[in-house]
Amino acid sequence: MDAPVHTLIQVSDNKLKEIISATAQDTQLTTLNQVTKTGWPDTYKQCPPLIREYWNHRCDISEIDGIMFKGEKIIVPQSLRKDMLNRIHTGHMGVEKCNHRARDLLFWPRMGQQIETMVGQCSICQERRNANTKEPLLSYTIPERPWQVVGTDLFTWSEQNYIIIVDYYSRYFEMERLHSCTASAVITKLKAVFVHHGIPEHVISDNGPCYSADEFHRFAAEWDFEHCTTSPRYPQSNGLAEKTIQTAKRILGKARADDKDYYLGLLEYWNAPVDNLKSPAQLLMSRRLRSILPITAARLQPQVTPQHVLQNRRGACQYRQQRYYNRSVKALPPLAAGTHIRFHHEDGSWQPAKILQPANTHRSYHIQTEDTPAQQATPP
Ligand SMILES: [Zn+2]
Repeated sequence: MDAPVHTLIQVSDNKLKEIISATAQDTQLTTLNQVTKTGWPDTYKQCPPLIREYWNHRCDISEIDGIMFKGEKIIVPQSLRKDMLNRIHTGHMGVEKCNHRARDLLFWPRMGQQIETMVGQCSICQERRNANTKEPLLSYTIPERPWQVVGTDLFTWSEQNYIIIVDYYSRYFEMERLHSCTASAVITKLKAVFVHHGIPEHVISDNGPCYSADEFHRFAAEWDFEHCTTSPRYPQSNGLAEKTIQTAKRILGKARADDKDYYLGLLEYWNAPVDNLKSPAQLLMSRRLRSILPITAARLQPQVTPQHVLQNRRGACQYRQQRYYNRSVKALPPLAAGTHIRFHHEDGSWQPAKILQPANTHRSYHIQTEDTPAQQATPP
Protein backbone atom coordinates (compact mmCIF):
# COMPACT_ATOMS: atom_id res chain seq x y z
CA MET A 1 0.00 0.00 0.00
CA ASP A 2 1.23 3.48 -0.80
CA ALA A 3 1.59 6.10 1.93
CA PRO A 4 0.28 9.63 1.29
CA VAL A 5 2.58 12.26 -0.17
CA HIS A 6 3.89 14.60 2.49
CA THR A 7 6.51 16.66 0.76
CA LEU A 8 5.57 19.14 -1.92
CA ILE A 9 6.98 18.98 -5.41
CA GLN A 10 10.22 20.79 -6.08
CA VAL A 11 9.02 22.81 -9.03
CA SER A 12 12.59 23.72 -9.89
CA ASP A 13 12.92 20.19 -11.27
CA ASN A 14 12.67 20.41 -15.06
CA LYS A 15 11.16 16.95 -15.53
CA LEU A 16 8.44 17.70 -12.98
CA LYS A 17 7.77 21.07 -14.64
CA GLU A 18 7.28 19.24 -17.93
CA ILE A 19 4.84 16.84 -16.27
CA ILE A 20 2.89 19.73 -14.71
CA SER A 21 2.42 21.43 -18.08
CA ALA A 22 1.58 18.18 -19.92
CA THR A 23 -0.91 17.25 -17.17
CA ALA A 24 -2.68 20.62 -17.62
CA GLN A 25 -3.10 19.86 -21.33
CA ASP A 26 -4.23 16.26 -20.87
CA THR A 27 -8.06 16.12 -21.02
CA GLN A 28 -8.22 12.77 -19.26
CA LEU A 29 -6.04 13.92 -16.36
CA THR A 30 -7.83 17.27 -15.99
CA THR A 31 -11.15 15.36 -15.79
CA LEU A 32 -9.55 12.99 -13.29
CA ASN A 33 -8.42 15.97 -11.22
CA GLN A 34 -11.91 17.53 -11.24
CA VAL A 35 -13.58 14.27 -10.20
CA THR A 36 -10.96 13.73 -7.48
CA LYS A 37 -11.73 17.21 -6.10
CA THR A 38 -15.54 17.06 -6.36
CA GLY A 39 -15.86 13.43 -5.32
CA TRP A 40 -16.25 10.19 -7.27
CA PRO A 41 -19.79 9.06 -8.22
CA ASP A 42 -21.29 6.11 -6.31
CA THR A 43 -21.27 3.67 -9.19
CA TYR A 44 -18.99 2.77 -12.09
CA LYS A 45 -21.86 3.51 -14.52
CA GLN A 46 -22.05 7.11 -13.32
CA CYS A 47 -18.29 7.56 -13.74
CA PRO A 48 -17.33 9.65 -16.81
CA PRO A 49 -16.22 7.11 -19.48
CA LEU A 50 -13.01 9.10 -20.08
CA ILE A 51 -11.63 8.19 -16.63
CA ARG A 52 -13.24 4.79 -16.03
CA GLU A 53 -9.84 3.09 -16.30
CA TYR A 54 -8.94 4.82 -13.03
CA TRP A 55 -12.13 3.60 -11.24
CA ASN A 56 -10.41 0.77 -9.36
CA HIS A 57 -7.68 3.14 -8.16
CA ARG A 58 -10.05 6.00 -7.20
CA CYS A 59 -9.22 5.85 -3.48
CA ASP A 60 -5.51 6.29 -4.23
CA ILE A 61 -5.72 9.22 -6.65
CA SER A 62 -4.69 12.71 -5.58
CA GLU A 63 -3.30 15.94 -7.00
CA ILE A 64 -0.36 17.97 -5.68
CA ASP A 65 0.99 21.12 -7.32
CA GLY A 66 -0.47 20.23 -10.71
CA ILE A 67 0.73 16.60 -10.81
CA MET A 68 -1.66 13.67 -10.47
CA PHE A 69 -0.59 10.83 -8.18
CA LYS A 70 -1.64 7.27 -7.57
CA GLY A 71 -0.40 6.86 -4.02
CA GLU A 72 3.14 8.22 -4.21
CA LYS A 73 3.56 7.38 -7.88
CA ILE A 74 3.42 10.09 -10.52
CA ILE A 75 0.67 9.56 -13.12
CA VAL A 76 2.39 10.25 -16.42
CA PRO A 77 0.27 12.23 -18.95
CA GLN A 78 -0.37 10.54 -22.31
CA SER A 79 1.91 12.88 -24.28
CA LEU A 80 4.98 11.96 -22.19
CA ARG A 81 4.49 8.19 -21.97
CA LYS A 82 6.54 7.29 -25.05
CA ASP A 83 9.50 9.32 -23.81
CA MET A 84 9.05 7.81 -20.34
CA LEU A 85 9.13 4.27 -21.77
CA ASN A 86 12.47 5.07 -23.39
CA ARG A 87 13.83 6.44 -20.13
CA ILE A 88 12.64 3.34 -18.25
CA HIS A 89 14.50 1.21 -20.80
CA THR A 90 17.80 3.10 -20.39
CA GLY A 91 20.47 0.44 -19.98
CA HIS A 92 18.18 -2.15 -21.63
CA MET A 93 17.15 -4.02 -18.52
CA GLY A 94 14.74 -6.91 -19.11
CA VAL A 95 10.92 -6.73 -18.79
CA GLU A 96 10.86 -7.68 -15.12
CA LYS A 97 13.51 -5.22 -13.99
CA CYS A 98 12.05 -2.41 -16.15
CA ASN A 99 8.63 -3.09 -14.63
CA HIS A 100 9.94 -3.05 -11.08
CA ARG A 101 11.89 0.11 -11.78
CA ALA A 102 8.89 1.88 -13.36
CA ARG A 103 6.39 0.73 -10.72
CA ASP A 104 8.58 2.18 -8.01
CA LEU A 105 7.96 5.72 -9.28
CA LEU A 106 5.39 5.94 -12.06
CA PHE A 107 1.88 4.92 -12.98
CA TRP A 108 -0.40 4.92 -15.97
CA PRO A 109 -3.00 2.35 -17.07
CA ARG A 110 -1.44 -0.65 -18.90
CA MET A 111 2.10 0.61 -18.25
CA GLY A 112 3.31 -2.98 -17.64
CA GLN A 113 1.94 -4.21 -20.99
CA GLN A 114 3.57 -1.31 -22.81
CA ILE A 115 6.91 -2.02 -21.14
CA GLU A 116 6.64 -5.66 -22.21
CA THR A 117 5.87 -4.67 -25.81
CA MET A 118 8.72 -2.17 -25.87
CA VAL A 119 11.33 -4.64 -24.60
CA GLY A 120 9.95 -7.30 -26.96
CA GLN A 121 10.46 -4.97 -29.91
CA CYS A 122 13.90 -3.71 -28.87
CA SER A 123 16.45 -5.16 -31.28
CA ILE A 124 19.35 -4.71 -28.86
CA CYS A 125 17.49 -6.72 -26.20
CA GLN A 126 16.40 -9.39 -28.66
CA GLU A 127 19.95 -9.96 -29.89
CA ARG A 128 21.13 -10.33 -26.31
CA ARG A 129 18.19 -12.16 -24.88
CA ASN A 130 20.13 -13.73 -22.02
CA ALA A 131 19.68 -10.39 -20.25
CA ASN A 132 16.02 -11.22 -19.75
CA THR A 133 16.28 -14.81 -18.58
CA LYS A 134 15.88 -15.99 -15.00
CA GLU A 135 18.77 -15.28 -12.70
CA PRO A 136 20.79 -18.39 -11.87
CA LEU A 137 20.80 -19.98 -8.44
CA LEU A 138 22.88 -18.16 -5.91
CA SER A 139 22.61 -18.97 -2.23
CA TYR A 140 24.81 -17.40 0.38
CA THR A 141 24.58 -16.11 3.91
CA ILE A 142 23.32 -12.56 4.00
CA PRO A 143 25.67 -10.33 6.00
CA GLU A 144 24.38 -8.34 8.96
CA ARG A 145 24.75 -4.94 7.35
CA PRO A 146 25.59 -3.13 4.11
CA TRP A 147 29.18 -3.16 2.83
CA GLN A 148 30.34 -5.59 5.52
CA VAL A 149 31.32 -8.30 3.02
CA VAL A 150 32.33 -7.50 -0.55
CA GLY A 151 33.49 -9.69 -3.42
CA THR A 152 35.93 -8.48 -6.04
CA ASP A 153 37.14 -9.84 -9.34
CA LEU A 154 38.73 -8.72 -12.59
CA PHE A 155 37.32 -9.28 -16.05
CA THR A 156 38.16 -8.46 -19.62
CA TRP A 157 35.58 -7.06 -21.96
CA SER A 158 36.34 -5.97 -25.50
CA GLU A 159 40.08 -6.12 -24.83
CA GLN A 160 39.82 -3.83 -21.82
CA ASN A 161 40.28 -4.84 -18.20
CA TYR A 162 37.80 -3.98 -15.48
CA ILE A 163 37.50 -4.55 -11.76
CA ILE A 164 34.17 -5.06 -10.00
CA ILE A 165 33.51 -4.76 -6.29
CA VAL A 166 30.12 -6.10 -5.19
CA ASP A 167 28.41 -5.82 -1.79
CA TYR A 168 26.97 -9.13 -0.56
CA TYR A 169 24.25 -7.34 1.41
CA SER A 170 22.76 -4.98 -1.17
CA ARG A 171 24.19 -6.45 -4.40
CA TYR A 172 25.28 -2.93 -5.26
CA PHE A 173 28.43 -3.04 -7.34
CA GLU A 174 31.12 -0.66 -8.48
CA MET A 175 32.85 -1.16 -11.81
CA GLU A 176 36.07 0.58 -12.83
CA ARG A 177 38.28 0.33 -15.87
CA LEU A 178 41.81 -0.90 -15.11
CA HIS A 179 44.73 0.37 -17.12
CA SER A 180 46.92 -2.35 -15.64
CA CYS A 181 46.21 -5.56 -13.72
CA THR A 182 49.09 -5.26 -11.25
CA ALA A 183 48.43 -5.53 -7.52
CA SER A 184 49.21 -1.86 -7.14
CA ALA A 185 46.65 -0.79 -9.80
CA VAL A 186 43.98 -3.04 -8.26
CA ILE A 187 44.73 -1.71 -4.76
CA THR A 188 44.41 1.89 -5.94
CA LYS A 189 40.94 1.19 -7.37
CA LEU A 190 39.85 -0.64 -4.22
CA LYS A 191 41.05 2.27 -2.08
CA ALA A 192 39.05 4.73 -4.18
CA VAL A 193 35.90 2.64 -3.73
CA PHE A 194 36.50 1.97 -0.03
CA VAL A 195 36.75 5.67 0.79
CA HIS A 196 33.26 6.15 -0.71
CA HIS A 197 31.55 3.33 1.15
CA GLY A 198 33.90 2.61 4.04
CA ILE A 199 36.29 -0.29 4.49
CA PRO A 200 34.49 -3.65 4.45
CA GLU A 201 35.28 -6.23 7.12
CA HIS A 202 35.74 -9.06 4.63
CA VAL A 203 36.95 -8.94 1.04
CA ILE A 204 36.47 -12.10 -1.02
CA SER A 205 38.47 -12.69 -4.20
CA ASP A 206 40.01 -15.50 -6.19
CA ASN A 207 43.69 -16.38 -6.04
CA GLY A 208 44.60 -14.25 -9.07
CA PRO A 209 48.16 -12.85 -9.11
CA CYS A 210 47.12 -9.33 -8.04
CA TYR A 211 45.17 -10.62 -5.02
CA SER A 212 47.82 -13.11 -3.89
CA ALA A 213 50.69 -10.59 -4.09
CA ASP A 214 52.49 -9.59 -0.87
CA GLU A 215 51.49 -6.03 -1.61
CA PHE A 216 47.84 -7.04 -1.34
CA HIS A 217 48.42 -8.76 2.04
CA ARG A 218 50.07 -5.58 3.31
CA PHE A 219 47.11 -3.54 2.03
CA ALA A 220 44.69 -5.81 3.93
CA ALA A 221 46.70 -5.47 7.13
CA GLU A 222 47.12 -1.72 6.85
CA TRP A 223 43.46 -1.04 5.95
CA ASP A 224 42.25 -3.57 8.53
CA PHE A 225 40.09 -5.99 6.54
CA GLU A 226 40.12 -9.76 6.31
CA HIS A 227 41.00 -11.03 2.86
CA CYS A 228 39.39 -14.39 2.02
CA THR A 229 40.45 -16.15 -1.15
CA THR A 230 38.30 -18.77 -2.82
CA SER A 231 39.78 -22.19 -3.26
CA PRO A 232 40.35 -23.29 -6.86
CA ARG A 233 38.23 -26.34 -6.01
CA TYR A 234 35.31 -24.19 -4.88
CA PRO A 235 35.36 -21.16 -7.17
CA GLN A 236 31.58 -20.80 -6.70
CA SER A 237 32.19 -19.30 -3.26
CA ASN A 238 32.89 -16.03 -5.08
CA GLY A 239 29.75 -16.67 -7.11
CA LEU A 240 28.28 -13.23 -6.54
CA ALA A 241 31.33 -11.54 -8.09
CA GLU A 242 31.18 -13.93 -11.04
CA LYS A 243 27.46 -13.38 -11.51
CA THR A 244 27.96 -9.62 -11.24
CA ILE A 245 30.58 -9.78 -14.00
CA GLN A 246 27.91 -11.25 -16.30
CA THR A 247 25.61 -8.36 -15.38
CA ALA A 248 28.40 -5.84 -15.95
CA LYS A 249 29.22 -7.34 -19.36
CA ARG A 250 25.56 -7.14 -20.38
CA ILE A 251 25.40 -3.49 -19.36
CA LEU A 252 28.62 -2.75 -21.29
CA GLY A 253 27.51 -4.72 -24.35
CA LYS A 254 24.09 -3.12 -24.56
CA ALA A 255 25.50 0.37 -24.04
CA ARG A 256 27.91 -0.20 -26.90
CA ALA A 257 25.15 -1.58 -29.15
CA ASP A 258 23.19 1.57 -28.30
CA ASP A 259 26.23 3.75 -29.03
CA LYS A 260 26.11 5.20 -25.51
CA ASP A 261 28.36 5.06 -22.48
CA TYR A 262 27.28 2.69 -19.71
CA TYR A 263 26.83 5.07 -16.80
CA LEU A 264 23.07 5.70 -17.04
CA GLY A 265 22.52 1.97 -17.56
CA LEU A 266 24.44 1.34 -14.36
CA LEU A 267 22.42 3.98 -12.50
CA GLU A 268 19.12 2.37 -13.53
CA TYR A 269 20.48 -1.01 -12.46
CA TRP A 270 21.36 0.39 -9.03
CA ASN A 271 17.86 1.89 -8.78
CA ALA A 272 15.91 -1.20 -9.89
CA PRO A 273 14.32 -3.18 -7.03
CA VAL A 274 15.81 -6.67 -6.58
CA ASP A 275 13.78 -9.67 -5.31
CA ASN A 276 10.64 -7.49 -5.29
CA LEU A 277 12.20 -5.66 -2.37
CA LYS A 278 14.41 -2.60 -2.58
CA SER A 279 17.04 -1.52 -5.07
CA PRO A 280 20.77 -2.09 -4.47
CA ALA A 281 21.12 1.69 -3.92
CA GLN A 282 18.32 1.69 -1.32
CA LEU A 283 19.78 -1.29 0.52
CA LEU A 284 23.29 0.19 0.60
CA MET A 285 22.59 3.93 0.95
CA SER A 286 19.00 3.90 2.25
CA ARG A 287 17.83 6.18 -0.55
CA ARG A 288 16.81 6.22 -4.17
CA LEU A 289 19.36 7.84 -6.49
CA ARG A 290 18.06 10.69 -8.67
CA SER A 291 18.14 9.56 -12.30
CA ILE A 292 16.55 10.58 -15.62
CA LEU A 293 13.16 9.33 -14.41
CA PRO A 294 10.95 11.95 -12.72
CA ILE A 295 10.88 11.71 -8.94
CA THR A 296 9.40 13.81 -6.15
CA ALA A 297 11.38 15.23 -3.25
CA ALA A 298 9.50 12.87 -0.91
CA ARG A 299 10.73 9.81 -2.78
CA LEU A 300 14.33 11.01 -2.51
CA GLN A 301 14.21 11.15 1.30
CA PRO A 302 16.37 8.52 3.03
CA GLN A 303 14.51 5.50 4.38
CA VAL A 304 16.17 2.55 6.09
CA THR A 305 15.09 -1.02 5.29
CA PRO A 306 15.41 -3.09 8.48
CA GLN A 307 17.81 -5.98 8.15
CA HIS A 308 15.19 -8.62 9.07
CA VAL A 309 12.99 -7.49 6.17
CA LEU A 310 15.86 -8.12 3.77
CA GLN A 311 16.74 -11.45 5.46
CA ASN A 312 13.17 -12.74 5.21
CA ARG A 313 12.58 -11.66 1.64
CA ARG A 314 15.91 -12.84 0.29
CA GLY A 315 15.71 -16.10 2.22
CA ALA A 316 12.29 -16.79 0.66
CA CYS A 317 13.61 -15.91 -2.82
CA GLN A 318 16.62 -18.20 -2.42
CA TYR A 319 14.38 -21.05 -1.29
CA ARG A 320 12.07 -20.57 -4.29
CA GLN A 321 15.03 -20.31 -6.68
CA GLN A 322 16.56 -23.47 -5.28
CA ARG A 323 13.34 -25.41 -5.86
CA TYR A 324 12.99 -23.96 -9.35
CA TYR A 325 16.63 -24.71 -10.14
CA ASN A 326 16.52 -28.29 -8.88
CA ARG A 327 13.39 -28.99 -10.89
CA SER A 328 14.73 -27.46 -14.11
CA VAL A 329 18.11 -29.17 -13.82
CA LYS A 330 16.45 -32.57 -13.52
CA ALA A 331 14.19 -31.82 -16.44
CA LEU A 332 17.01 -31.00 -18.87
CA PRO A 333 17.55 -33.86 -21.33
CA PRO A 334 21.11 -34.50 -22.57
CA LEU A 335 21.91 -33.00 -25.98
CA ALA A 336 22.75 -35.40 -28.80
CA ALA A 337 25.74 -34.91 -31.13
CA GLY A 338 24.77 -32.86 -34.17
CA THR A 339 22.10 -30.83 -32.30
CA HIS A 340 22.11 -27.17 -33.31
CA ILE A 341 22.16 -24.88 -30.30
CA ARG A 342 22.86 -21.28 -29.41
CA PHE A 343 25.61 -20.67 -26.90
CA HIS A 344 26.41 -17.71 -24.70
CA HIS A 345 29.41 -15.93 -26.25
CA GLU A 346 31.67 -13.94 -23.95
CA ASP A 347 30.63 -10.70 -25.69
CA GLY A 348 27.16 -11.25 -24.22
CA SER A 349 25.43 -12.42 -27.41
CA TRP A 350 23.94 -15.81 -28.30
CA GLN A 351 25.69 -17.48 -31.22
CA PRO A 352 24.84 -20.57 -33.26
CA ALA A 353 26.85 -23.75 -32.73
CA LYS A 354 26.63 -27.51 -33.16
CA ILE A 355 27.06 -30.13 -30.40
CA LEU A 356 30.04 -32.45 -31.09
CA GLN A 357 30.00 -34.59 -27.93
CA PRO A 358 29.53 -34.28 -24.15
CA ALA A 359 32.53 -32.91 -22.23
CA ASN A 360 33.82 -34.28 -18.93
CA THR A 361 32.38 -31.44 -16.87
CA HIS A 362 28.79 -31.51 -15.64
CA ARG A 363 26.31 -30.26 -18.27
CA SER A 364 29.14 -29.19 -20.62
CA TYR A 365 29.57 -30.10 -24.27
CA HIS A 366 32.22 -29.76 -26.93
CA ILE A 367 30.71 -27.56 -29.60
CA GLN A 368 31.60 -26.31 -33.05
CA THR A 369 30.99 -22.65 -33.88
CA GLU A 370 31.28 -20.59 -37.03
CA ASP A 371 34.47 -18.77 -36.03
CA THR A 372 36.25 -21.41 -33.92
CA PRO A 373 36.59 -25.09 -34.81
CA ALA A 374 35.73 -26.63 -31.41
CA GLN A 375 35.29 -25.43 -27.84
CA GLN A 376 33.62 -26.37 -24.60
CA ALA A 377 30.42 -24.71 -23.50
CA THR A 378 27.64 -25.14 -20.97
CA PRO A 379 24.17 -24.66 -22.43
CA PRO A 380 21.86 -22.19 -20.60
ZN1 LIG B 1 16.49 -2.94 -25.09
